[in-house]
Amino acid sequence: MSENFTPNERTRVVREPHRGVYDRDTINKILDEGLVCHVGFSVDGQPYVIPTMYARVGDAIYFHGSAASRMLRGASAGIPVCITVTLVDGLVLARSVFNHSMNYRSVVALGTAVQVNAPAEKMEALHAFTEKILPGRWNDARQPNEKELKATSILRLPLTEVSAKIRSGPVEDDAEDYALHVWAGIVPMQLTAGAPFRDERCDAAIPMPQYAAEYRR
Ligand SMILES: Cc1cc2nc3c(=O)[nH]c(=O)nc-3n(C[C@H](O)[C@H](O)[C@H](O)COP(=O)(O)OP(=O)(O)OC[C@H]3O[C@@H](n4cnc5c(N)ncnc54)[C@H](O)[C@@H]3O)c2cc1C
Repeated sequence: MSENFTPNERTRVVREPHRGVYDRDTINKILDEGLVCHVGFSVDGQPYVIPTMYARVGDAIYFHGSAASRMLRGASAGIPVCITVTLVDGLVLARSVFNHSMNYRSVVALGTAVQVNAPAEKMEALHAFTEKILPGRWNDARQPNEKELKATSILRLPLTEVSAKIRSGPVEDDAEDYALHVWAGIVPMQLTAGAPFRDERCDAAIPMPQYAAEYRR
């Protein structure tokens, strides 16, 4: 059964609070649709925000430790992080410059990320990364060996303090601006996949898998 997140003073959306969403299913859907997250952390007072791959498994986000290798040094107890995922759904062209905006769905997750050490959990995280890149890929590609598994550092952030913010719908102009002779509207935005092409060193006799040939977003 999925429960909603309870907003606290750290996760309550302040500006345009009606756009704040704390429903777990909505949040999971955004996290599962996103391909890249930005991991924010602080080292010696300097904030870093690093883009990286991630995957959600149940109530946790896994991400590659290499993104945060700097922060990992000497931080076996865990590192406070802020992870964001952003999906842009449209450009909002208002009559006034002030009311231009974007339609979007975004998630902010706060908490302490811990390094994953158990080989079975590491394997589960790598499986989730690979299947997120393209469902069906894990079974076709060579599985990680012990050396590769050791060389990969993975972090887990439990999803406990989480918020989403969603802007959807039409242009919102000031009442007096609706009379202006200015075109207004939405330009929808979508991330789409192009046609796959074969690696130069891939034997031409190997057929392209269906999951790649038919991949759509
Ligand atoms: C593509 C895109 C474009 C945006 N453009 C603008 C812009 O031009 N101007 C602008 O003011 N805002 C913009 N925003 C919204 C922006 O992300 C913040 O929500 C806003 O600036 C600050 O909100 P706040 O004062 O409520 O949040 P803060 O007080 O900064 O944050 C409080 C808490 O609210 C939650 N929260 C805040 N923002 C988000 C979010 N986007 N998604 C999920 N949880 C959130 C977090 O848990 C955060 O800890 C944009 C968002 C996106 C995704």
